[in-house]
This record gives sequence, C-alpha cells and structure tokens, in this order.
Amino acid sequence: MKNTESSAEYDLDKINQEVSRCKKCPLWRTRRRPVPGEGSNHPRVMLIGEGPGEKEDLAGRPFIGRAGKLLDELLGSIGLNRESAYVTNIVKCRATTVRPVEGPVSEPGDRRPTGEEIASCTPYLNRQISVLRPRIISTLGDTATRFILEKYGLRKSDISKVHGRVYSVDRLKIVPMYHPAAALYTAGLRDTLKKDFKKLAALLEQKTLI
Ligand code: URA
Ligand code: SF4
Repeated sequence: MKNTESSAEYDLDKINQEVSRCKKCPLWRTRRRPVPGEGSNHPRVMLIGEGPGEKEDLAGRPFIGRAGKLLDELLGSIGLNRESAYVTNIVKCRATTVRPVEGPVSEPGDRRPTGEEIASCTPYLNRQISVLRPRIISTLGDTATRFILEKYGLRKSDISKVHGRVYSVDRLKIVPMYHPAAALYTAGLRDTLKKDFKKLAALLEQKTLI
C-alpha cells in the first residue's frame, strides 16, 4: 500500500471481510447480516455501541433504527455526521433472546451480549481502533464503556457515574455517554445526552487547534 489512506482502507476492508465470514461465537447462527461498522477512515470521533438490533441485522449497517435516528440528531447538533465519524459496536452480530426463523420476523427482542461473545468479537474492534487511530472515542452505553475503560487500564464504573467525563490516555480522549436507546425509554436522558455531546463538541474544537 502506498500511503496511510489506502492502507487504512485495505485494513478495514480485510476486517469487514473476516467479520462477514466469522463463526467465532454462536451469534453467527442467528444473524442475518453482520454489522462491522462504517464511516470515515480518519474519523474525528469513533462511536462504539453495544451490538446490532433488528434493523441493523437486516441491513448490515450500524445504528439505523430509532436509536440511530437519535444518534444522527445528536451528531448533527454538534456539526458532525456519519461521514466524519466511525460508528461500530462491541459485537458485530445481533444478540437475540429467540432464534429467528427464515426471513424478517417480528421483533424477537435483543439482549446484552455475553462475556464470551464479547471476548470472541472484540479482537475485531481492537483492530479497528488500531487502524483508525481515533483521537476521540465515545462509548455509547454500559457495555461499550466498561470494555473501553478496561482496555485502557481505567477504573470501570457505572455509566450513570462516568457519562460525560473526559478520560485522557496519552493522546486519546475517551468520552462515555448514555446509550441513545436508553434515552428513548427514560425521560430526561435525552437532555443529559445533549449536554454530554456538547462536551464532545468542546473537545473537538480543542483538537482542531492542535
Ligand atoms: N444499538 C447498538 O448498540 N448498536 C446499533 O448498531 C444499534 C442499536
Ligand atoms: Fe464473529 Fe463477532 Fe459475529 Fe461472534 S459476534 S460471530 S465473534 S463477528
């Protein structure tokens, strides 16, 4: 590869291909499409959710349901969009409570990925982080926050305590946020998320000065 641009593209492509064939954990049996992630090869911020829901599983794209719509709004409120960020998840295949039959089904219900599923899948996320080298990672929800804080040797804590904080690890900033899906069900969290996104905006402004 001639330059870092094409090399990032090549490496991400390779990860996507591996994910598309992956059978490393039982989630491959019930997925329709894996959801590796998408966005800029040089993202201003990397956003990490928990795992695909039904809509994402059908489309192979992250955050395209109701939570995704709110995420787009939040990004828009600070002058960002999907193309300037990279959006992915802790696990790349949907975790459901029920094994679906062929074809689209009525919502079987999502569940949190298990520790084993997370351990099987996160090498892909770690590789994505190595390739993209984001300056800012924002974790969406408890699952992503716990994984990323632990990865960087930070004390894990409940999302209600750490949301909106800015952690520094060398040149990387980590900003945990509530999951946008939580704001769909809990009144008040939408405003909290908006405020926390403002902190992200302030950080982005500083970063452009460096
Ligand atoms: N929730 C997530 O955590 N990720 C998605 O991609 C969609 C909903
Ligand atoms: Fe592979 Fe991850 Fe999908 Fe499990 S969730 S099958 S580890 S891509």
